Amino acid sequence: MNIEKKKISILGAVRSGIAAAKLAQKLNAIPFASDMGNIESLSKNIAELELLNINYELGEHSEKVFNCDLIVVSPGVPTESEVIQKAIKKNIKIVSEVEFASWFCKGKIISISGTNGKTTTTALCAHVLSNCGLKTYSAGNIGLAFSEIVLDVKKDEFVALETSSFQLDFIDTFKPFISVILNITPDHLDRYKNSFELYKEAKYKILKNQNENDYYIYNEDEANTIDNLKNNKVNFTGFSTKKILQNGAFYNDGELFTVNNGKGEIIGHKNDLLIKGEHNIANALSVICIAKIIGIDNTSLKAALGTFAGVEHRLEFVRTIEKIDFVNDSKATNVDSVWVALRSFEKPLYLILGGKDKGNNYDQIKDLVIEKVKKIYAIGSSAEKVYNYFSSIVETEKIDSLERCVQKGRIEAKPGSVVLLSPACASFDMFNSYEHRGDIFKKAVRELK
Ligand code: ADP
Repeated sequence: MNIEKKKISILGAVRSGIAAAKLAQKLNAIPFASDMGNIESLSKNIAELELLNINYELGEHSEKVFNCDLIVVSPGVPTESEVIQKAIKKNIKIVSEVEFASWFCKGKIISISGTNGKTTTTALCAHVLSNCGLKTYSAGNIGLAFSEIVLDVKKDEFVALETSSFQLDFIDTFKPFISVILNITPDHLDRYKNSFELYKEAKYKILKNQNENDYYIYNEDEANTIDNLKNNKVNFTGFSTKKILQNGAFYNDGELFTVNNGKGEIIGHKNDLLIKGEHNIANALSVICIAKIIGIDNTSLKAALGTFAGVEHRLEFVRTIEKIDFVNDSKATNVDSVWVALRSFEKPLYLILGGKDKGNNYDQIKDLVIEKVKKIYAIGSSAEKVYNYFSSIVETEKIDSLERCVQKGRIEAKPGSVVLLSPACASFDMFNSYEHRGDIFKKAVRELK
């Protein structure tokens, strides 16, 4: 695609917007970035634009935006926004940052989507392929924007691309070699007119342009990920943690299998994985499918899967002190994530729960809490709500700092149990981000005597 001398307006001047602007400039186009934010919140990004002499505006999307040949939209800008609607009326071509970057990708794209597990699976995929000797970049929501790395990617190299449905909203020719939908559960419905069908359709766009040379990997345990498949050219294969399959990858009696026309081979035992929980078995099975499509041998695959330590802040093991494990799951910002976390442990739990509540309903985890949790430490602005819900079913105490929870856990947890931060809430009542919350937790754990 030749974009030389083309005027390109970029909506959103954060990570992916800045990367798209830089990519456009490198390819001799004329980028213009526009963001509703202010200079205080965007100062670092704007400094980068100024250094490169890229034009921009802040605090509004003015008429200047429409003076262009193409609009590249960042994931944060909703389709219903005035600026997008106006651009549509003016018949200006609009693409997402992922679509834009893909025009210049010489390598093979492995696009990983789903409601949950994208970051983990993208990182695992990049880890496995890299450890098996295949040069693989990871990009998208995880780490670097696709536009940031795309010109480095050579033919026969891979990009493991974490792809959210927002990024799929404006695709046109985006064509992954392998696409994956891990699962689809209601989330972000506000962006899709509260319609689950529209949200699903957005996810299925990932395979819109795939053909008989490409592959789609779906989740056999979630009918949602296959029931709307309209692309009859793409090769597809499934994975399951519950059923024995004839093709793809499945889990049975502790073992992870690859299977081809009914011929199954064991890749490894679940205890060979450092990442824990059934959800991570599912993530690993999807990567087994990817690896087998690419032709990686079982021995290398097993070795590579077994050295992946997980992604920070997601059921991240921190330290064991006198047989008490401390685990950081700060990324668990909703009840669903806490549900998968609780299911991942066999040991008794001391659970740190609470933060900025987004309308949580704890019914979903009530039984698991009764079964597995010895005590809840309730923190943050929702401590009262957590206390009111749980105190009649399990010992619950309101605590005013995360550090104090860690210290209490150290004293109160019995050897052989786990102190788990899996808060089910956003972090903004006490911290800058979930990463900040996880870092404070880990620091407090490391400082324990
Ligand atoms: P995403 O990038 O899609 O948000 P992450 O890999 O960051 O996903 O994981 C976020 C949370 O989602 C994890 O803490 C875990 O609780 C949950 N999770 C991860 N993988 C899965 C999965 N395959 N199915 C359901 N939940 C999952």
